[in-house]
Amino acid sequence: MKFPFVVLLMVLAGASFHCSQVSPLPGQSDEIVGMWGVPAPGGAVQTVSTASSAADLNRRINLKVDMVPRGTHGRRVVRPMKPRYITIHSTQNYSADAERHSLALKRGALRSPIRRGGNRIGYLIWHFTVDDRVAIQHMPVSEQGEHADFGGPGNRLSIGIEMCEHRGSSIRTTIERTAMLTAKLMHDNGIPLSNVVPHYHWPRPSKNPPNKNCPHFLLDNGRPGAKWRTFLGRVNYYYRNAYQSTVAAR
Ligand SMILES: [Zn+2]
Repeated sequence: MKFPFVVLLMVLAGASFHCSQVSPLPGQSDEIVGMWGVPAPGGAVQTVSTASSAADLNRRINLKVDMVPRGTHGRRVVRPMKPRYITIHSTQNYSADAERHSLALKRGALRSPIRRGGNRIGYLIWHFTVDDRVAIQHMPVSEQGEHADFGGPGNRLSIGIEMCEHRGSSIRTTIERTAMLTAKLMHDNGIPLSNVVPHYHWPRPSKNPPNKNCPHFLLDNGRPGAKWRTFLGRVNYYYRNAYQSTVAAR
């Protein structure tokens, strides 16, 4: 997702903001490749009870609920949703952590003009923002967000997760927490791994190119490739560890 720069500048007081929000920070991609070039720690399925594994996953996600009040800003229009997909984004904002994004959403600071074939409500909104310390929920997963493809299936059918990439944060920790949260949401909502997709997956008919390079640090040359498959592997690892370990241990 790309934010309206001027509005964000007003909200994120004191924070400088990169306007060329396309390239990853120097070394970021290499760090990710380097991290995932080695076997996952404890890669084998563990013989622990499902309940304690799920509890451990929840503890590590560190989920805070800080909803945009119903009837305001991004939740001004409430559209019910039965989520079938999970869409992964990165903020392309190098100044703000999850808490600042939560504040911006609650203040109604992330605007986008309502137009035919474009934004439906005049605000951006999504379900979760993740950084290297916390995951914050902004709206119920039973409501449609405005984060992917306007009136398309990405918004109508998917839970939106934004990964922070602010300076000084650990992208690898943020990615791991995002993989954990995705696994939990798959379990809670009955969503298969095949329906975990990058923002790139949802074309935006009014944009050129229609498929966005998002989340840019998990794509290869702007498209899903080895990094995206590795991310899905991490999601699957957490899912199996938390929810399928009892079965697998038999
Ligand atoms: Zn995006």
